[in-house]
Amino acid sequence: MEYVSTRGSAPTLTFEGATLAGLADDGGLYLPREWPRFSESEIAAMAGLPYAELAARVMQPFVGDSLSTGELRDLCKQAYGRFSHAAVTPLKQFDEQQWLLELFHGPTLAFKDVALQLLGLLFEKFLTRSKDHLTIVGATSGDTGSAAIDAVAGRERIDIFMLHPRGRVSDVQRRQMTTVLAPNVHNIAIEGSFDDAQAMVKRMFNDSAMNSRFHIGAVNSINWARLMAQVVYYFAAAMQLGAPARKVAFSVPTGNFGDVFAGYVAAQMGLPIAQLIVATNINDILHRALSDGDYSAGVVTPTAAPSMDIQVSSNFERLLFDCGGRDGTALAAQMRGFEADKAMRLTNAQREGASALFTSARADASDMAHAMRWASENCGEIIDPHTAIGLHASRSADVPAGIPVVTLATAHPAKFPDAVERATGQRPQLPGRVGDLFAREEAFDELPGDYDAVAAYVAERATPSA
Ligand SMILES: *Cc1c(COP(=O)(O)O)cnc(C)c1O
Repeated sequence: MEYVSTRGSAPTLTFEGATLAGLADDGGLYLPREWPRFSESEIAAMAGLPYAELAARVMQPFVGDSLSTGELRDLCKQAYGRFSHAAVTPLKQFDEQQWLLELFHGPTLAFKDVALQLLGLLFEKFLTRSKDHLTIVGATSGDTGSAAIDAVAGRERIDIFMLHPRGRVSDVQRRQMTTVLAPNVHNIAIEGSFDDAQAMVKRMFNDSAMNSRFHIGAVNSINWARLMAQVVYYFAAAMQLGAPARKVAFSVPTGNFGDVFAGYVAAQMGLPIAQLIVATNINDILHRALSDGDYSAGVVTPTAAPSMDIQVSSNFERLLFDCGGRDGTALAAQMRGFEADKAMRLTNAQREGASALFTSARADASDMAHAMRWASENCGEIIDPHTAIGLHASRSADVPAGIPVVTLATAHPAKFPDAVERATGQRPQLPGRVGDLFAREEAFDELPGDYDAVAAYVAERATPSA
């Protein structure tokens, strides 16, 4: 499989190359040249497979020659063997139409583990092959950081520099990053919002002085391999609910548009998805873009669902590229306009392409609390604030009876105990697998929201590439 950039002028890469690359060097994001497609009978034949086996089957067409079938299967077994639930992503029923897909049974309690546990192993495999060294630079609104750090801590050939917006992630989220004291892990608390941190990371990918010395890699969902790994659970859930014979809808709490874009990919591959509901909090750029064509970044407002406090959704560019006829030159111009004005209009082709599959909804603080209470009182389920935004969106969506709606449960409620307790009166307990998180020593450095300071910090500590 060949990978092309959304902005049309970067070299094409293999899966291995796209996995080790950050942004494409024209500033775009990598995507497979075409979508592999399964027939109905091929999908039916995957029903009932163990998760790791299903993962290897769904991902093989994207991996191409970069790994043998046996190598890919072994990596999947190793990655998903670290989950605390034998089903890896178990599905729960809420009522006759509503379902919940629990994606938080990995080591750091959020869905990010599903992709990052695999990505850490892919990095190690490819770097051992090329005898290279990777400098991972990432920004986190909370959950990517801990999942990425868990996935690469102590691995040779990798250093990780993780920027989090100071004071804007929960205590559990911060401690899950800062209590990992492996020498290849570097935590940075940065002044500003997640969008500011993400902008600095993007700038580093485009910084030729940094790129000529270091092989800079990405763990944010700009990395294609992450989205690829997330496609798998859409298949797993839909097949349990009757696919390919029956259509299924999904509601996805959305920030950077990575998770829900994986659902779009599953649909392109032949999975019968009736609708993808993009659920946002009051930071609603995606809701405005999908409902009205208005993609304009406002000021980020902190909420009880911090992993969705995002106004610039990197992966939306992938959708605009695919729906807009895959014209890299036109998209590069459109994105340059957005970068200059912080606002743009979707083209008619982009709006029509997106509306074939996507709808959207926005939840404010009271909608979110109400959804948490509904799940608790009616189903005895404690859900986290992000999941609650997804549930609010799926309960208010207009999905025909007979089509199941699956809300993606993106984090364990104990990651956000205060918001959950405020809404439900119950304080969720951390599962035993996170250990004595609040007793452990923390290590992180604080830096101002200044690109040069961050670049100098990385350059002092990273290992040059081979
Ligand atoms: C990252 C995250 C999201 C948003 O996912 P995207 O792929 O960025 O859209 C939602 N909920 C939780 C708990 C997250 O960690």
